[in-house]
Amino acid sequence: MMILMRDGATETEVEGVIVKLHEVGAEAHLSRGEFKTIIGAIGDRDRISQIPFEALPGVETVIPIMKPYKLVSREFHPEGTVVKVGGAELGGETFVVIAGPCAVEGEEQMISSAKAAKAAGATIVRGGAYKPRTSPYSFQGMGEDGLKLLALARQETGLPVVTEVVDVRDLELVCEYADMVQVGARNMQNFLLLREVGLQEKPVMLKRGLSNTVEELLMAAEYVVRGGNAQVVLCERGIRTFETATRNTLDLSVVPLVKNVSHLPIIVDPSHATGKHELIAPLSKGAMAVGADGVMVEMHPDPKTALCDGPQSLAFGEFDSLMRELKALAPALGRKI
Ligand code: PEP
Ligand code: MN
Repeated sequence: MMILMRDGATETEVEGVIVKLHEVGAEAHLSRGEFKTIIGAIGDRDRISQIPFEALPGVETVIPIMKPYKLVSREFHPEGTVVKVGGAELGGETFVVIAGPCAVEGEEQMISSAKAAKAAGATIVRGGAYKPRTSPYSFQGMGEDGLKLLALARQETGLPVVTEVVDVRDLELVCEYADMVQVGARNMQNFLLLREVGLQEKPVMLKRGLSNTVEELLMAAEYVVRGGNAQVVLCERGIRTFETATRNTLDLSVVPLVKNVSHLPIIVDPSHATGKHELIAPLSKGAMAVGADGVMVEMHPDPKTALCDGPQSLAFGEFDSLMRELKALAPALGRKI
């Protein structure tokens, strides 16, 4: 349920509603827009509905939220959320490009990638230090040494870094080094991890699970936001279908669909969606055209020798071309890059 306050409602009036909610054991989540203050009430529906909200000073009206997700819904927060990661802003006018290798493999590989990403115009650097691999015999990532190299990449380029946390036991360590914490597709419904990620303050990138619906993605985001961290960016990275020509099937329809129902920014990962480096540029342009807040792409100094996801990684020259194509397209779509 949402309690919409009158324009100009005072702090005392807002506080009065919150106190009433706490009295019935409900949580109050405050959303202050430019014009409206909305209080999201989360708790026992019957007990909450006993409160005579419309008789309380400062209350304009009460609106039930029918959707199963509340805090991430656009009803609760009509203005789009802007998530700040270092100097980059996701959810604003600017189309944000996140680039870097699938996995951090060593100093030379990571730093050269970060420098190439920056030189071409990327504003966030990626790199996995903990890799969720299908085979236990595949490279599992460098762990803390990888995190240290990400911190070095930030120092060398001035760009913020995003990296995946796979295990809740590593969360604190990952947060010490990263500017944004990624929850990967395989952990999208790891509710324990989502809860813990919601309790810390770093922005979160939440990737859609391999076989998860949009509603499940938004419910996963609800776990994080409910913990107190509203700095969440969603990421469409392709879903499993009958098609085998691409690694996954990119569901671009999700972007405008999510924009309609949620205030959270959403980006697209054409690398994991397709598994093919030659499809990254066309689908990145598609992502911009359908209104995504950015893309995340994998790149590598020598994709053929990459320890992880080489076939879907761009060589530096290819990344440079991609950025030039996106820069050419942006003005036609009213976007900055
Ligand atoms: C990744 O971005 O490194 C990754 C493992 O992607 P996903 O979780 O989407 O498979
Ligand atoms: Mn990868």
